[in-house]
Formats: sequence, C-alpha cells, structure tokens
Amino acid sequence: MEVTYNQRMKVEAGGVARSDSPEAHVDIRLCLLAWYDRNRRSLPWRRTRDPYAIWVSEIMLQQTRVATVIERFQDFLRNFPTVSALANAGEQDVLALWSGLGYYRRARMLHHAAKVVVQEHGGVMPKTAAALRGLPGIGAYTSAAVASIAFGEKVAVVDGNVERVIQRLAGWGSDSATGQTELAREIAKRAEVLLDPNRPGDFNQATMELGATLCLPRKPLCLTCPLRDHCVTRGEHPTLQRAAMRSQDAAYGLAVRSRGAHREVLLQQRPAELTVMPGMWELPPLRSVEVPGEHLRLAVRHAIMQVNYYVRVRTVYEGDVDELMVPSETRRWVSLNQLGGIALTGLARKVLLRSGLPELTQLPVVMENTGKGVAPVAGRSARRAKPRSAAAKLAGGVSQ
Ligand code: SF4
Repeated sequence: MEVTYNQRMKVEAGGVARSDSPEAHVDIRLCLLAWYDRNRRSLPWRRTRDPYAIWVSEIMLQQTRVATVIERFQDFLRNFPTVSALANAGEQDVLALWSGLGYYRRARMLHHAAKVVVQEHGGVMPKTAAALRGLPGIGAYTSAAVASIAFGEKVAVVDGNVERVIQRLAGWGSDSATGQTELAREIAKRAEVLLDPNRPGDFNQATMELGATLCLPRKPLCLTCPLRDHCVTRGEHPTLQRAAMRSQDAAYGLAVRSRGAHREVLLQQRPAELTVMPGMWELPPLRSVEVPGEHLRLAVRHAIMQVNYYVRVRTVYEGDVDELMVPSETRRWVSLNQLGGIALTGLARKVLLRSGLPELTQLPVVMENTGKGVAPVAGRSARRAKPRSAAAKLAGGVSQ
C-alpha cells in the first residue's frame, strides 16, 4: 500500500507497546472507556438517546465549537423539539435560529432532510447508518455518529479528531496524495477494529473526546493520556500546515432612520442562487470599497473560510442611499427591535452589534471562522422567544 509508515518514530519508540495487536485493542478499549467515564464533559446531547436531537447536535458541531453549540442546540430544540416541528417550519425561521453558527448550508440540508424523514419515513428517524446516509446532507460521519450513539449500531465514527488519535497511536504518516487516500482507508479500518462492540456509541464519543481535549492538534497532553502506553508517537508527530488565509477589502453602508417610536435599518437579502449564504440578510454593499476617513463608522475583520475580509462601514443617510449603495431590488427597512429573529449573516450581526445602536443588545453571539473552527467574537447571547415567521416580520414591520 502507499501509506508511509514513519520509521523514525517506530525506531525511537522502541519498547512502546504496539497499538495494532488484538491484546492492545482490548486494552485500548478498556483504558479509553474508563477515562471517558471519569472525564467526559457533561453536554446536553449526551443526556438523550433521541436520534433527532443527536443528529441536530452532530450537524451543529461540524465547524463550530462545543461551548457555542451548547446554547444554540438548546435554543434550536426548544423551537423545533421534533423532526416534524423542524420539517413544518419556514426556512427563514430555521435560518434565523441558525444565524451566527455559520455554514448555513448545514441548516438548509437539516431542514430538507427533516422533510424527507416526515414524507418518506413517517416522521421516524431511520435506525441504521446505511439508511441514515440516504437522507440529504448526512454522510459517513454523521450517519455513524447517530446510529452508534442513538441505536447502538457497531459502526465507527471517523472525524478529524479520530483520524489524529489513530494516526498518532500507530505512528502513521503519508508523503503523497495517493498516500493520503490510502492512509484514510487504513485509519477507517483501524477505527472499525478498535471499536468496542459493547459500547460503540460511547467508544466513538470517547475517541472524539480524547482528540478534542488531550490529543490536541498542536500540543497533545500526552502525560495525562490514557493511551500513552499504546502510543507510538507520544506527541512526536509532524504538524500539518494550515492553508494560508487570503485578504479581501469590502465596504457596507449602515443606514438607520426613525419611524414613529421605532428606528429601522436598511438591509438587503442575498440572492437565492448564491452558493454562500443564499437568502440571508446583510447590510447593503457600497459602490466603492474606499471609505474616506471622515465617513468611516467602523472597521472590522471578518473571516469566512480561508478569506480575511477587511470591512469598512460608513453611515449612509436615507437621501444618499441610491448614490452610495449598490442598486438592489431586495432592500428593506427593518425595525431594529425585530432583528433578533431575522436570518442575518454573521458579518451583518457583528457590524450591527459594534455599531453602538442601543436597541441592539439582544442579538445572539456573533461567530467567526478563526481557522480553528467557528468561534464567538462579539455580542451578548440571549434567549429568544419562539420566532414569528421571518416573512411575517418583514411584511409587518418593514417599509420599502
Ligand atoms: S499519547 Fe499523546 S499523541 Fe498519543 S494518543 Fe495520547 S495524547 Fe495523542
């Protein structure tokens, strides 16, 4: 096979128990599960066997940090407690509750799949990994996680944490693109071999937990690792290079006007055909990214995927909108006290929170892709009442 075993590590680790003998597999299961039973974090999705709730948590946890998901998960389930409730919700309401978590395609696919569960499975979640993979947006990782945790199916989960743990345990590396493919196959095979047949869900979570809390990407905490005696590398491992971030300038207008007792902000909806955040609401972009210093309201950096956006925001008066802003058919004036239920982009949320508008203290935490996953960067979290339909809000509280 093309996998390159790291010979240096094998030699230097002379005397270390190998992780690939049947005896070692048994011991690894015992050590890892005993450690997990003592040290696992108390997380809301670990207190349920409801496959729908576990599915929601697994989708949220992709790209988003645990601390952030905890509150958003509970908020989401309060509003959509069952797969049927989610299926019957409007897309804008689902996006509004996802707002700030980033990677909105996840929310759309979750919503779409919930409708398929209701229409094709009578509202009952499929019980096997193979059947779950038939749902939109559910791949090998999510199907294995839900099937093993909710239904006890003996199927191994392989995510980035599991890959890293197994690679380090075995001392595996790869020097070529072909080798990477082979390596991924070997890791998947090893994950299946190691899986505890009696507690597959716990074992999967334990391996992920080890990767998330001890076997860290940069500085693994090997001294406290329960698998130290079976680990070939013990922290001596090559560190993967992160892809370099690109930079891009952008400029948006912040237009606020008074209407009766309320104030309104001008937003516009991103076209439905975009691949990034379609249908979300954002501040209107300016015709020019150059904003003279005397007009600069604030400047923020905002990371999306591998791009750092350096964003300038200027105050735009109502009479200057057409002159300064890029023309759009989808602009709407939205009451500031309705923004909590609108599907705003993370950048719009960040700018509005930093703009100093006193009405905006109740928006959820702003999230940003820091390159290490999505992390909170500004704002104040807040529990929200069940949102009215976003479309109804826009129709009732907005004038053109
Ligand atoms: S000993 Fe260190 S490198 Fe090996 S699995 Fe444990 S934390 Fe990871």
